[in-house]
Amino acid sequence: AHAIVAGPAPAGVSAAPLLPVVGSELAAPLITGGTTRYVNLDYAASAPAVEDVSAHLGQILPYYASVHRGAGFASQVSTSVYENARHIVAEFLGARGDDTVIFTRNTTDSLNLLAGCVASLLAEHGHVDGPSNDHGEVLYLDIEHHANLLPWQALPHRSVVAGHSIAATLHRVETQLRAGNVVLLAVTGASNVTGEVLPVAELAALAHRHGARIVVDAAQLAPHRRIDMARDGIDYVAFSGHKLYAPFGTGVLVGRPDWLDAGTPHLAGGGAVKDVRLQSVRWTEGPARHEAGSPNVLGAATLARATQVLSALDPAQWRAHEEELRTRLVAGLEQLDGVTVHQLFADAGTYPECGSIGVVNFSVEGYDAGLVAAYLSAEHGVGVRDGRFCAHPLLRRLGLAAGSLRASFGVGSRAEDAERLVEGVAALLRDGL
Ligand code: PLP
Repeated sequence: AHAIVAGPAPAGVSAAPLLPVVGSELAAPLITGGTTRYVNLDYAASAPAVEDVSAHLGQILPYYASVHRGAGFASQVSTSVYENARHIVAEFLGARGDDTVIFTRNTTDSLNLLAGCVASLLAEHGHVDGPSNDHGEVLYLDIEHHANLLPWQALPHRSVVAGHSIAATLHRVETQLRAGNVVLLAVTGASNVTGEVLPVAELAALAHRHGARIVVDAAQLAPHRRIDMARDGIDYVAFSGHKLYAPFGTGVLVGRPDWLDAGTPHLAGGGAVKDVRLQSVRWTEGPARHEAGSPNVLGAATLARATQVLSALDPAQWRAHEEELRTRLVAGLEQLDGVTVHQLFADAGTYPECGSIGVVNFSVEGYDAGLVAAYLSAEHGVGVRDGRFCAHPLLRRLGLAAGSLRASFGVGSRAEDAERLVEGVAALLRDGL
């Protein structure tokens, strides 16, 4: 097994972690006895916090107090930390000056919030912007995570089966934009199944050409690539802190204020109102409209800190680090008989701005994906994800209805992580379960 290693590293690129993350030296128990360094290849589900973010949490914890309504010193500090976090996130995303930044629980919550606004506008007026888009629909691709699919199924909608190339997919999206009265195109920035990045600027331009807006589910894109909403014409972005090297519990929805200020508040309760009477309410506008209840100050502050840490990375080095690990992993897996690496698009090379984030999806012939994942954990201390990745339509279309395996990584990953996975799969193929 030791003769089989992941493919060679491109010259001049380091395979060391890009940033220190917490838990990088965890010891995992082995079924055969003893322990080994735990190899976390499940970043796409939840990434470990970067050490800087963890330290920041300790710094702000003493000021932990109720925001907005408290007059005391700690409340004032907490309020300014919380409100400042909005500006930091807006800057990270290249948002327009008047975009609204709403803190939510996660990407799922953010997309449901936007869906709720669109649904209420359609129900009340029959359109979102004016009679020109009466009976508007939402358009989404079949490669979406359920979080960017199920909220739209509750609205008038149409869907597109992505093609075998990015070019064909763009063409199909345009055909549907032409055919329908689409008010919103909902698309993932990067597939959580294969890691392939979509051309969001082209998709935004297409949507706008046909009078629609675009929301990008950036749960996977934001932790791996720079996003520039203003430059690329992206109307709304959603992502989660726990995939972006911050703790669980906070996500964001950022975007154009008009629909958000007119739509039904996401939660009814304190802080979201101007005035309440026993039988009526006047809702407020801005982010507070959708943030009723005591907010997750620590979550917002650590999420914002994580965006600052990522913004400080050299984009070329950031991308090179992931691409090196991905290349090694794919080369190592593909040299094993019986292993198939799954991809969506054949023409990714012609879209240099796209490529893939740190996600590799694969199957081992003759083995159930769940058993392989359990074996890799128990015998090799390697943590991967198996199943259908909350993307059932796509897995079914790819002929993977029984599930596949996903290895995913990021700033804390190193070359040895790729090697450990390849060695584990090689041992399985050689020795069996
Ligand atoms: N969208 C994509 C592309 C994802 O990968 C995920 C999570 O895996 C989500 C949305 C949902 O994220 P969350 O569970 O943080 O709401």
